[in-house]
Amino acid sequence: MHLDPFELHRPRSVEEAVRLASELSGQCDYLAGGTDLLPNYKMHLNLRPHLIALEDIPELRGHSFERLGAMERLADLEGDPAFRAAYPGIQDAVGEVATPLVRASGTVGGNLLVETRCFFFNQSFFWRASLGFCLKADGDRCHVVPQKERCYATFSGDLAPSLLVLDADVEVAGPSGRRRLPLSGLYDAAGDGIRRTRLAPGELLVAVHLPPSARGQRAGYKKLRVRPSFDFPELGVAVAGRWDGTRVESLRIAVGGVETYPRRFDALTDPLAGAPLSEEALGRVASEVMRGVRPVHNTFLLPDYRRRVVEVYVRRAVREAREGSAA
Ligand SMILES: Cc1cc2nc3c(=O)[nH]c(=O)nc-3n(C[C@H](O)[C@H](O)[C@H](O)COP(=O)(O)OP(=O)(O)OC[C@H]3O[C@@H](n4cnc5c(N)ncnc54)[C@H](O)[C@@H]3O)c2cc1C
Ligand code: SF4
Repeated sequence: MHLDPFELHRPRSVEEAVRLASELSGQCDYLAGGTDLLPNYKMHLNLRPHLIALEDIPELRGHSFERLGAMERLADLEGDPAFRAAYPGIQDAVGEVATPLVRASGTVGGNLLVETRCFFFNQSFFWRASLGFCLKADGDRCHVVPQKERCYATFSGDLAPSLLVLDADVEVAGPSGRRRLPLSGLYDAAGDGIRRTRLAPGELLVAVHLPPSARGQRAGYKKLRVRPSFDFPELGVAVAGRWDGTRVESLRIAVGGVETYPRRFDALTDPLAGAPLSEEALGRVASEVMRGVRPVHNTFLLPDYRRRVVEVYVRRAVREAREGSAA
């Protein structure tokens, strides 16, 4: 597999990057660490002739307890003991992304905007050509749920669920200025599954913002994958909460890796606040979360197995968070 030629642009500011993207409308992608985009380009998946590298934009760098720059490397978060202590759930998730080598290049923004995956899509051009292309690239039908309207490729980033449970916001910049939106609003739950976010064309992810309430929560992340040293999630369950003794003050659960977007289950967890969490109540919530997700057969593990593990991981993640100590 080879990389086709493209023109590389190296803007020095967010405004310059956004202006370029607007001029090259539909003909460009932003390039962060390239650990997802470039392998996809090698497989001829939705190639663009122009890449806008974000490497030289200082504003996109750095992290604090309140802000994660979109170009901050996952390894930089992992290597900060104070950050690790303040956000154990984020750290769990970061440590589960790919391999140390990939984390040395992979960024926060790239992880949140990682391409959705499907075993009919993440294949070489020749493999896909021999079967017949699909809706998500070059074709007009879906091989998983045969129809012409929707793609079911799976959201496979590890970081998003762990940030969702902490009420993170994202800051984005576009041709008409900057805006902030909840991370949950970044993903297009009601869309066609192909356009995976609600970012407008050319919009750039600048940073993730964490509210003061995010710090010191008891949190964790559980990931199911085929090869534990390497693979994308077949399921990711993130949990964050506060307890006063045995009484739940707040509890959030988010699930990724099973549907086209990562999501929270507040309607199930909000009623738990104000009382101790019995094993029976936890079992009920875990089973409702399991019933609420709809994986399809487009990754290695069978959908029914992945759903059953949802229940197990929700239970384990909540128990571990409850018993763990707050930072
Ligand atoms: C072998 C291997 C294993 C992997 N395993 C995992 C895994 O277990 N879990 C996991 O989560 N990921 C995994 N990945 C995917 C990827 O490496 C990570 O998600 C990584 O964090 C992506 O970051 P990046 O900076 O390299 O993104 P890039 O590849 O540069 O970009 C990814 C996408 O985001 C867009 N983008 C990037 N930054 C911005 C921005 N600031 N604004 C707007 N758009 C932007 C790009 O245009 C592109 O569409 C794996 C990759 C490989 C090669
Ligand atoms: S779910 Fe269907 S349309 Fe989407 S990538 Fe897979 S085969 Fe293609």
